[in-house]
Parts: sequence; C-alpha cells; structure tokens
Amino acid sequence: MSVGKLLSRIVGPSRYQKQEMRLSHQFKTSLLSLYDYSYGITSDPLTQFACFFSALIHDCDHFGVSNQRLIEEQHALVDMFGERSVAEQHSIDMAWQHLMTDKFDNFRNEVMPDMDTAKRFRQLVVNGVMATDIMDKGLKEARNKRWAITFADTVGDTLLEDETEVRNRKATIVIDHIIQASDVSHTMQHWHVYRKWNERLFLEMVKAFEEGRSAKHPVEFWYKGEIGFFDFYIIPLAKKLKECKVFGVSSAEYLDYAQKNRDEWVKRGEEAVTKMMSDLEFRKKITVEQDLSNPNRTPRRASRKQSLGNLVSPNELNEVPPELPESA
Ligand SMILES: [Zn+2]
Repeated sequence: MSVGKLLSRIVGPSRYQKQEMRLSHQFKTSLLSLYDYSYGITSDPLTQFACFFSALIHDCDHFGVSNQRLIEEQHALVDMFGERSVAEQHSIDMAWQHLMTDKFDNFRNEVMPDMDTAKRFRQLVVNGVMATDIMDKGLKEARNKRWAITFADTVGDTLLEDETEVRNRKATIVIDHIIQASDVSHTMQHWHVYRKWNERLFLEMVKAFEEGRSAKHPVEFWYKGEIGFFDFYIIPLAKKLKECKVFGVSSAEYLDYAQKNRDEWVKRGEEAVTKMMSDLEFRKKITVEQDLSNPNRTPRRASRKQSLGNLVSPNELNEVPPELPESA
C-alpha cells in the first residue's frame, strides 16, 4: 500500500455523507464536489506529487538508529540540524540537493516552473516528511490539535476561520495521515506483508545493538513493543483514516487488517521473534563459513560516508501549512 494507492483511494462522498454534509454549515458556503471533499488534494497535481516525493525520500540516508540516539551520540547531523527531527531534516536535505542537480533540470522545470511553485512544493515536502517524525513532541501536539479542531465535530471553531484556512488545514491533516499510513503500511496489509517488513526493522535494530548503538537487544522488547505499537499508534491511525472519511470503504479495510495483525501477533509474535533470531543466526553461520572457505572474498561495504550539505532552515518546521490553489 503505497502513497499512490492511498491517493487513488481518496473517494468522493457517498450519498449518505452528502446528505450529512448538506445538513452541515459547510454546504452553504461551498459547492460539494470531490474537490471540496478531498480538500483540493485530488485536483492539485503538485500536492499529489509532493506526497509521492515525500514518501519516497522520507528515510533517505537513514542511519538505522533513532533521532534520540543521534542526539546521545552528538552525531555530526545534530550540529547541523539541531536536536529536532534530525534524520528527517537530513533526508530532505539530501534529496533536495539531489533534485537540484543538473540532471533534473528538465524535470524541475516541469514540476516547479516558477519560484512560487518551487516554494510551495518545498513546503509541502517539508511538511510531508516531518509527518513521519512521530516521536517529536511538538510536532505531535500540533498535529493532535489540528485534528481535534478539524474532525472532532467542533463546528464552532471552524466558523471563525475563513474557508481557505479551514480547507488548507484539512488538506494538511489528510496529507499527514496519508504519509504516516504509507510509512507503516505493512501493518495494515496481509500478515505476510506485515511480517516481512517487521523483520527488516527488527534486523536493523539488532544491527544497531551489535554496533553498540542501542542499549537493549530488540529480542528483549520486540513482542510487547509491537502490541503497544498497534494499540497506541497503528490502530488509532487506522481509525483516523476512517474518521476523516476521505478514503471511503478502504479505510475499513486498513483498520481490519491492523486489528487482525495485532491479534495474530499476540498469538504468534513470540514464536515469530524466536524464528527471526534463529534465521539470523543461520545466515551469520553461513557467512562465516563462506568467509573461511574463501579468505579472498571482498569484505562487505565499509561504513557509509557522512555527507554534509545545506541546512533545512529550522523555522521551516513550524511554518503554517502550505496553501492549496484556489480551485482546479
Ligand atoms: Zn519510514
């Protein structure tokens, strides 16, 4: 379930929802269409592309450890970006620099032909990638607040804002959730898909532990940790996808998979952790045997270079949500 799939599943309002909206104050001020319903996202190619782009680059050059760890290590990136959303800022920075290289000249001219469009695109990308930092307290609070005043039936608040503000805020929330959902989409798909990507994350964390970059081996907390992740993040996220109503029936499907995977994990998670560990031991043994039988084998890639580049200006993190074009 990629961002593309999520975007393609943004649906028009059902008859029932249309009726519901007709009764609400929103209908009096705007014409009901897919445009209104998806807060302009479906009819704005730049926004859609920004979602794709954000999802594509959001973990670019990720170091396999948390932001918290990068701060503890006083990593070079912390000097560059400060102590908030370190990895996310670095990913944007890397990808943006790459996008600015000569080989993308024609592409850039197509996507962002003028400065205003370029600024808007960048702002959308910054917002999109920041949405994947689910640990930052400030970002989390801002998101929760946006959600509360928008979808928690507090019609009173929205009356004080003009229509464009309300729509932009709603669009920002929907984009946040599209990108967050695509980031953890393995948890909302078939059990085998979930297991495949869960194992990769597990292995990434084993590696961090073995390199002395984390205090605990994941085997100690993985089983319980996943249950907590489902209960406190995945299932509430899937519920929000449903509540914002943009995804129609598909959102029920995501929630259903999330709940099923959670229940399955409760039953089979411990066994899964044991299996991931024994598979890992097996692969290690094979590698050692291969190395012994062929001492001239080229060693695996040395640690990656740390590339440093331009800063993402920190104030971009707290900027107002980008505006969507008036109509399409
Ligand atoms: Zn990610």
